[in-house]
Amino acid sequence: MALVVQKYGGSSVADASCIKRVAQRIVATKKAGNDVAVIVSAMGDTTDELLDLAEQVSPLPPGRELDMLLTSGERISMALLAMAIANLGHEARSFTGSQAGLITNSAHGKARIIDVTPSRISEAIDQGHIAIVAGFQGVSQDTKDITTLGRGGSDTTAVALAAALEADVCEIYTDVDGVYTADPRIVPAARQIPRISYEEMMEMAACGAKILHLRCVEYARRFSLPIHVRSSFSTKEGTWVVSDPYNEGTEMEQPIISGVAHDRSEAKITVVGVPDKVGEAASIFKTLADAEINIDMIVQNVSAAATGRTDISFTLPTADSQAALTALKKIQERIGYESLLFDDQIGKVSLIGAGMRSHPGVTATFFAALADAGVNIEMISTSEIRISVVVGQDGVDAAVAAAHRAFDLDADQVEAVVYGGSGR
Ligand code: ASP
Ligand code: MG
Repeated sequence: MALVVQKYGGSSVADASCIKRVAQRIVATKKAGNDVAVIVSAMGDTTDELLDLAEQVSPLPPGRELDMLLTSGERISMALLAMAIANLGHEARSFTGSQAGLITNSAHGKARIIDVTPSRISEAIDQGHIAIVAGFQGVSQDTKDITTLGRGGSDTTAVALAAALEADVCEIYTDVDGVYTADPRIVPAARQIPRISYEEMMEMAACGAKILHLRCVEYARRFSLPIHVRSSFSTKEGTWVVSDPYNEGTEMEQPIISGVAHDRSEAKITVVGVPDKVGEAASIFKTLADAEINIDMIVQNVSAAATGRTDISFTLPTADSQAALTALKKIQERIGYESLLFDDQIGKVSLIGAGMRSHPGVTATFFAALADAGVNIEMISTSEIRISVVVGQDGVDAAVAAAHRAFDLDADQVEAVVYGGSGR
């Protein structure tokens, strides 16, 4: 008997009829002889609606209360799903993240899982029940307050729980048939990727591919847990995220580029006129780290010989930019930099592919495609299997389409079906 962990995203449980359909699917998995644990997201755009509501009563809601509010979304869907399963004659029990043993630190809105103690889930499963767990939430080890893992965090809940329960597979159900070579909403000719490595998927997720949460893929890699990303609206085989997708036995040849990801959620800050002395960059980034801000790309210019000063630019989540600017202003005098520049009208476009390790000329082809599309590059960063550029926000769609075409990723026929969801 296999233990299957399934996660259903917001668009898969958007309304009562969706919930009933998902219930049927879960019951079918159970009837096929598997043990089943299910993680659910909040229905449809509930989380966004709750956020809008919070904003109407306070421009800066306290993190503790915001987490209390947002976690209610998943409580609604988990209870309804358990009821729908009961209505089909099967026993289901719903559990909050706290009840399911998801222990986190106390960073509200972006808590990290520090332990998973799912004894209540194992008990429920041992009793033959289907366990339904609220996604994206846990309980802080020290404060005992309810926390959330960050937007899209239900994937991480699913993988963390699957790892702790030693599940055979973690199935992530969404509103498309799997992971695509680009967002089908921007590139209709995007293709579905049958198998992809953890490392490529991690780069895709880090670069804005919304299909899987970065931390969930990191987690899956750490425990070598296979993830199967598939649609809850069809029975098609989806995308398998595994450690070695191109080994013998699968006849797949490794592509040079696996996909093109984009991200519009970042902003750019430039610290202008930083004295070019030992330790200045360290102080700047220590300050940002202390404010719990995740930095993405960093570029430091060559310092001008005449002034002995340099500019340091970096990108960060737009949502964190006020906190970053405030923290940096506090150290302006001590560091002696001249000023701060802020730009939130940027976007990041990334090419990802383990095959680029052994293929020269990828950067040249990418940049030529951007030039032909009339897109100007503002920042560049690379890893062994990724090339990312920052461009103006209005150039993002054109850049993604141009890169996709330049690496022959366009399918002859439109393959992607977007079954639901608002893409929010
Ligand atoms: N409901 C949460 C969100 O919309 C968590 C999730 O969907 O994974 O971000
Ligand atoms: Mg959601």
